[in-house]
Amino acid sequence: MTTSIIGFPRIGENRELKFNTEKYWRHQLTAEQLQQAAHDLRVKHWQLIKEAGIDGIPSNDFSFFDTTLDTATLFNVVPAAVKTLDLSSLDRYFALARGYQGDHGDIKALPMKKWYNTNYHYLVPQFTATTRVKLVGTKIFDEYQEARDAGIQTRPVIVGPFTFLSLSEFHDCQPADFVTDLVAAYQAVFAKLAAQGAEWIQLDEPELVKDVTGKRRELFTAIYDQLLAAKSGLKVLVQTYFGDVRDVYTDLIHLPIEGLGLDFHEGRQTAQLVQSGFPADKTLFAGVVNGKNIWRNHYAQTLALFKTLPVQHLVISTSCSLLHVPFTVANEDFPDQVKQHFAFATEKLGELTDLQASLTDPATPALARNQALFAQPRVQPNPQVHDRIAKLTADSFVRHPALAQRAQIQQAEFHLPLLPTTTIGSFPQTREVKRTRARFRKHEISQADYDHFIGEHIKEWLKWQEDIGLDVLVHGEFERNDMVEYFGQHLDGYLFSQNGWVQSYGTRGVKPPIIWGDVARKRPITVKWSTFAQRQTTKLVKGMLTGPVTILNWSFPREDISQRESTIQIALAIQDEVLDLERNGIKIIQIDEAALREKLPLRQSDWYSEYLDWAVPAFRLVHSQVKPETQIHTHMCYSEFTDIIPAIQDLDADVISFEASRSNLEILDALQKEHFQLQVGPGVYDIHSPRIPSVAEITTTIHQILEKVPEQKVWINPDCGLKTRGITEAKASVEHLTAAAQAVRAELTAKGD
Ligand code: GLN
Ligand code: ZN
Repeated sequence: MTTSIIGFPRIGENRELKFNTEKYWRHQLTAEQLQQAAHDLRVKHWQLIKEAGIDGIPSNDFSFFDTTLDTATLFNVVPAAVKTLDLSSLDRYFALARGYQGDHGDIKALPMKKWYNTNYHYLVPQFTATTRVKLVGTKIFDEYQEARDAGIQTRPVIVGPFTFLSLSEFHDCQPADFVTDLVAAYQAVFAKLAAQGAEWIQLDEPELVKDVTGKRRELFTAIYDQLLAAKSGLKVLVQTYFGDVRDVYTDLIHLPIEGLGLDFHEGRQTAQLVQSGFPADKTLFAGVVNGKNIWRNHYAQTLALFKTLPVQHLVISTSCSLLHVPFTVANEDFPDQVKQHFAFATEKLGELTDLQASLTDPATPALARNQALFAQPRVQPNPQVHDRIAKLTADSFVRHPALAQRAQIQQAEFHLPLLPTTTIGSFPQTREVKRTRARFRKHEISQADYDHFIGEHIKEWLKWQEDIGLDVLVHGEFERNDMVEYFGQHLDGYLFSQNGWVQSYGTRGVKPPIIWGDVARKRPITVKWSTFAQRQTTKLVKGMLTGPVTILNWSFPREDISQRESTIQIALAIQDEVLDLERNGIKIIQIDEAALREKLPLRQSDWYSEYLDWAVPAFRLVHSQVKPETQIHTHMCYSEFTDIIPAIQDLDADVISFEASRSNLEILDALQKEHFQLQVGPGVYDIHSPRIPSVAEITTTIHQILEKVPEQKVWINPDCGLKTRGITEAKASVEHLTAAAQAVRAELTAKGD
């Protein structure tokens, strides 16, 4: 019985990777200094994992931005325009990740998408008919060697070929065209690693937990039949996570591989599949320690599960990479009776070895301690919350009158022009903003000084919005660190870590709060600053809230009550806030559901029954009680909702803005086909990249939108909030946006005359 992990947080205990990378981008560090910092971090992590007593230690789980992008560059799946950029390979890599605008060219970043049902994002590799797949990179070998030089034998990890092809986009070509070359390239990796002395390789294949039938199953079989014909003596671990592999379990256990990694947390059928039989000559990497949540593992339950598995060779592992949890509880200052319930990445290493010890010795003290922890109830229920939920009726979830009627009422009320312009909510969170907030938090400045600071920022940015002619203004969200923690701070039932950062994309992290108990609104959340902003201007100011599904999805959820129940509790708290804003004169309220899609079950057959059937009503509950003339907006940070358009429609908001520019506005065809009724603001430029779109570029995009969506229904906005951008680029981009919208509006009006 040994232990293993799938991957470890790469950003570092104090987010060293983030800070060093950003310094490099600002030319405050040389490439050598950045490489050295990355090296130090990798070695530190390997040592930490080793010292914790873990047997299977991964390498190449590190990345400067994203491991899918690493795999694409390893295999030469890079657009020609980037390959020929006169930059170092590191800078070309960052150009793919973030776009590049400078002396050597103007390159858009690769599209970025959510990594399965997580808040991590990967970059989408682009295949074209001219793509020549071959092994051209060395990262996986370099990092293996680096670990060896540090005295540590590792198991190199790479995105598996089926997942890699499934996540990529194909232009004038298809996945099958590349199978032969891709398999050869993976085999070249095997050969080289084997020559270097590696024993195992881990192929991450989370794609296998989705529906894998028909053509997809054929592709999977075709790849693996060829791939495993030449392994160069390496042992192959096919690692899955985020669900169970019910469609291909039988295929997998008959493959000539040595290890199979399965997720026992999100994989509802995993235990049952393994119980039906597991080959004696293979090793099961049992993902029993939850890699996605921060609660302690219930050892007795895990040990009981092991007893039911007919497995001869067992490795105790995590359910997915520890990338999705923060580094360590040690740097938190929760009271001990709270802290004892948490296990972050470092503590999970200890859980794996505890479980290992408990299996051989049931008298091990760790097991007794764990049993004592779970013997007591953790929290007391909040009777008011339960009472309120019990009184909900079907009508509590329905807004009156219907959408079309509301649209008329609202137009009569607001008199907005054609193609109204707005932004998604936040303006640049400059160092000054962040520093002032931090000083306030540490009580270094008074409430009055802080309020003055925020108030001045709001006024200044309102003035700018008026000057450039935006139609619906926002206050800018300067008072918020992020869109969930800020809300959680005003809610009962929430806890916050100080250092619980989790990577979201590249150098960006989030610090998900922890839902500790029943949730209720303690006091108004946004009313003060929204009404302050509205008092400064005669234009409409949009209130800005985070929706219940996103609050839940970007928190670490409870495991003792259902997510559905937690979400309804949050929805009621946000409903209180919506009604408070309305009472205080806010006429447009945006309820962001940036994360609604990311928790969509990976198997399509579960979408409604396991998720949308409660997530959509929870959103409706939030706004069902507002007046017809109050306009409800929602925002989503992605555009892949082609398959759930009816559900989006069913949210029954009045307007939706979403990301579209990085995905070439593909969503518009689907909206047209499905007769989408809501007004839409497809993001007209990509805010995740520092490049500034020109007026001409945005004008073209608006024209493309108007080909698909009736002009009365179109809003013009960026594709997300601007908080991560610098002031200069944010202002220039939005100025270009308003100029473009005004130009097209003039064309339309001229045509109409
Ligand atoms: N209103 C939020 C903002 O602008 C929305 C952020 C998001 O969608 N992630 O920052
Ligand atoms: Zn967004």
